[in-house]
Amino acid sequence: MTYHRHSKAVTRGPRWHSIRMAVLERDGFVCRSCGKGGRLEVDHVKPVRSHPELSFDPANLQALCTSCHTRKTRLECGHKPASDDRLKWRQAVAELAAKSNRAKRI
Ligand SMILES: [Zn+2]
Repeated sequence: MTYHRHSKAVTRGPRWHSIRMAVLERDGFVCRSCGKGGRLEVDHVKPVRSHPELSFDPANLQALCTSCHTRKTRLECGHKPASDDRLKWRQAVAELAAKSNRAKRI
């Protein structure tokens, strides 16, 4: 993904792996933005490209789910966030999915 190009050098090293785990543990394995668990990524609050000295600073790192992370990274790269309609649609789909999951459990 081209969005992540700037942090490649950081997230490739072995040092990153231990810091990544420490941050996920600190944040309780949930997304700091929406509170969901599941697949999480560790985000640089201040981007690596502008603040390389903070690359391994836990205070500059947070756990984010993939969708919050993608949204944030897009904003940083100057893209517009998804439109309102699109967000509503996504929410409706998520609600439907939650409902059918609940139905399956019963
Ligand atoms: Zn999230």
